[in-house]
Amino acid sequence: MENPAETKWMADGNCANKAPSVFFPSDGVGVEKAKLVCEGCPVTDQCLEYAIAHRIDHGVWGGTSERQRRRIIRARAQKRAANAQQPALQVN
Ligand code: SF4
Repeated sequence: MENPAETKWMADGNCANKAPSVFFPSDGVGVEKAKLVCEGCPVTDQCLEYAIAHRIDHGVWGGTSERQRRRIIRARAQKRAANAQQPALQVN
């Protein structure tokens, strides 16, 4: 069950009074229109991290398209993997 505090930020978003359908477009033009609403949104970071944490595949979240979020997730995973392969620092 979701913690209500986890989604409290949604009320502060630029989209708070927009139809949810705007953020689940069916084509690239719709994606760009939704991203325009996200521009300057005060909760962009929370929105993006929420979508990534909950693996939300569909829609525009945090000013990103589905494809952009997949890229972000992949880049973060690659960075984690690269960091894990680095030898530990030796402290004398
Ligand atoms: S970043 Fe976009 S989708 Fe997220 S709360 Fe703001 S306006 Fe809404």
